[in-house]
Amino acid sequence: MTRLQKITFGEMRAAGVRNVLIYCTDDTCCRCITVPDDADRWPDELWISDVEDKFVCTACGQRGADIRPDWAAAKTRA
Ligand SMILES: [Zn+2]
Repeated sequence: MTRLQKITFGEMRAAGVRNVLIYCTDDTCCRCITVPDDADRWPDELWISDVEDKFVCTACGQRGADIRPDWAAAKTRA
């Protein structure tokens, strides 16, 4: 089992990933949304994990999210 390493938005963009997946951390909600081009609005040096607590789930109101780069979308573009 490999877990994704902690990366910054700059590293994510360098890898060709511009979309992020935002997962609700509430176990009973589990809402997941894709945010296109979200990487563009954050500074290069910012850790992805640093913005997780800025998100509030639009479905259940849970504060904090699990944010992951959308690696699948990057692959289809290449
Ligand atoms: Zn939720």
